Order: sequence, then C-alpha cells, then structure tokens
Amino acid sequence: MTIMLERGTRQGAPGTLPRLLAGGRRLGEHRATYGQIPLRRFAGEDGRRTLIRAITDAGLRGRGGAGFPTGRKMTSVAAGAKRPVVIANGCESEPASRKDKMLMACAPHLVMDGAVLAAHAVGADRVYLCVERGTSIADRLERELAQRDDPVKWKLVRVPRRYVSSEESALVHLINDGDGRPMAAPPRPYEKGVAGRPTLVDNVETLAHVALIAAYGPGWFREVGTRSDPGSTLVTVGGAVARPNVYEIAPGMRLGEVLDAAGGAVEPIGAVLVGGYFGTWVPMPDGWGLPLTHDRTGPQGTSLGGGGIIALPAESCGLAETARVVRYLAEESAQQCGPCMFGLPAIATDLAAVAYGRCDPATRQRLSRRIAQVTGRGACRHPDAATKLATSALTTFADDLMTHMDGWTCTGVSRDPILPLPDRRHRDRSWK
Ligand code: SF4
Repeated sequence: MTIMLERGTRQGAPGTLPRLLAGGRRLGEHRATYGQIPLRRFAGEDGRRTLIRAITDAGLRGRGGAGFPTGRKMTSVAAGAKRPVVIANGCESEPASRKDKMLMACAPHLVMDGAVLAAHAVGADRVYLCVERGTSIADRLERELAQRDDPVKWKLVRVPRRYVSSEESALVHLINDGDGRPMAAPPRPYEKGVAGRPTLVDNVETLAHVALIAAYGPGWFREVGTRSDPGSTLVTVGGAVARPNVYEIAPGMRLGEVLDAAGGAVEPIGAVLVGGYFGTWVPMPDGWGLPLTHDRTGPQGTSLGGGGIIALPAESCGLAETARVVRYLAEESAQQCGPCMFGLPAIATDLAAVAYGRCDPATRQRLSRRIAQVTGRGACRHPDAATKLATSALTTFADDLMTHMDGWTCTGVSRDPILPLPDRRHRDRSWK
C-alpha cells in the first residue's frame, strides 16, 4: 500500500497538504524536512505551559477515535501530583483502518518527536510506544528508536492483537500487570495510570500533529480544516473504490470528494461506513455532500472517529455485513462484564437472523431491546461500538430489513464480504 498524495510541496507552507507524510522514514531525511525537535524553544516551566497553550490554541483533537481535545488532556496530566508518563498508542486494532501503521512506517520520527514534545509538555520522563505484536513495524520502530538521542526513556511495548487491547486502560493494565484487558474506570489513566502515575495516552497521529504544531505554530495548523476541527487528518478509504488507500484530508471535505480522491466508485454505492467499526452507515447518494469531521454530525451522530471509510456496493447487503462485524466484536469481548459477554453474541445472532431472512417481528423487537440493554453497560466502550453500528444498520438499511422480513431472499448476502476482518488464524487468543 502506498500513500496517494501530492509530494514536493514545501513543508510548512500555509494551507497545503501533505503535512504528515512528506518527511521520509530515516532520521536524516526527517530532520532535513522538519528540522530539529524544537525543545529549546519550549524550555523550562514557562516553555512547557507555552507548548500546552499552543496545542490548545491549535484546537487539536485526538485522532484515535474519541476526538477529545489534546490540550485539555495534557493540562489534566500535567496537573497531577506525581511525575507523569506518556503512552504513544500505535496499536490500531481497528480492522477498517491502516492509517497509524502507514504513518509509523512512513514518518516514524514525526511520531517520536511528537511523543518527546508531549512528554516535555506534561513533565514526563518516560514514553511507552505501543504497537501490535507480530507485525514487522515493531522491529522497524526499534531500529529507528536506536538512532535517536532523546531526553526521555523509551520502551517499545508489543500489545496482543485483540480489538480491545488498544483501549487506553487496557494499555495501562498491560504495562502494569502484563494483562491486555480493559479496566473499569475510574480512576482514568490521566489520573492514575502506569505505576500509579498520571498517564497521557495519545494516538500516534495525534502526536505527529503535536510535533507539527510545535514546529509551525497553532495558526499554521488552523489553516486547513474547520473551525471546530482544524488541521489535517489521515483516513483509510476502502471498499468499492478504484484506489483504496490512506489519504491525508482536511476535515470538512465532503464524503463524495473523498471517494473521488480515492479514484471514485467502481460500482454503484449503496452506503458508506464512516468512522470504522465505531462508526455509522451513511446512505448514498444522499450522503455525498456530508462534511467529514470529528464532530458528531447528522441524525446518527456521524463522525470521522478513527478515520475508517468503507464504500459498500448497492448490490451488497449492509445488514449481513454488519452482522459479520458485530459477531467479530462479540468474539473480541474481554468477557469481564455480563452485558458485553452475553449481550453482544445475542445481538450478533439476532442480526444474523435479520440478515439471512429468519427474522420475524418478535426477533426484531428483541433485537431493539437487547441493543438498549447493552448500550452503556460495559466497563469500557466496546459494547457501545457494536450497538451503535447495529442501530445504524437497522436505520440505514430499514427498507432492506422490511424486504428480509417479508421473506424475500436477498442476493447481497451471497456476495464476497466488503468489510475487512482479521483472519481468525492471526488473532491472538491470549491477553498476555
Ligand atoms: S465492556 Fe467488554 S471489552 Fe470492555 S471491559 Fe467489559 S467485557 Fe471487556
């Protein structure tokens, strides 16, 4: 997979893209493009405060999915009683997304510069760089880390390949106790995380933006994007488009424009999943002009989330596709909370019944009831992802649902699946 972006623009030039992926993999290439890490400019206590203010003024929001304001998170961590630590989260367990892996492969030192600057801002002395185990990226990052001379202690953490192990409390749990399952909140990691210290957990793309804001300033950062969602962002575009790939876009770009940038649809599109498996279905062609941002917009609260965008052909069955993903999410439960452990498999079974024509009004009602009973009842937000996706499918594909309930056989269910899922053989079974 390669990045399909214009190159050759002077880095830091106002209002231009790419910003994140122009610097090269090697440290020398990176320094030639982005310069030295500007730690001296932010020296001392005043400097730390200035850096956090710059991140806050830039309006940077987390690129891992939740979209929380990064400056606010940094302020909370920096105010803790103990010396903080930083976790750079590059796990990207979301099967519909590859943008973090792409970023770490193409611009590892931008991520590392951002992590060092974030550590400096909050007063941390340690950075844990977390990546999925069993991938070549970990070894490559280790080699790049060895080239650097940073004022923090780095530790590369190989995380189990489980959907929920990239959740922030799961990362803290893994580092503290060797167990990659989420923990019940509170306290949240920003209050009490690794070794009981305030812990800043930031997605690797977020940290790369921190490095750019430190170098070029909040005004520059805001030259692209929208007022409430400034800066550029990476998205993974897949499904029925000519050039599925990772793209750097400005928030506010229309959904149709993003699909066109990915080469356009290769067959008529029925709906697009926006925000990956924590996302919502957007019906097409009505959704063509939807502006893509990390804000929750539209009747279903559609958001870019972690940046996964998948175009579903009109001939495919959105209910069957969703049933497969919800089954996968049920299998990925950490099995610690009853609603998640028992509720998600039950919802997956009901959804499959809906998709494969074994649905009657009683099943449909039970499905709605189960979705309501499970939502918001987990120790982490994992069940909420599954119920949001299921609810969105039942809304967006309501006409298909009626057809299925009338006993018509849907030809879409026999098409090859579009939504990507990891091969069962490559999924970790352990939490260690
Ligand atoms: S909600 Fe599910 S994934 Fe999250 S902690 Fe509970 S059992 Fe684990």
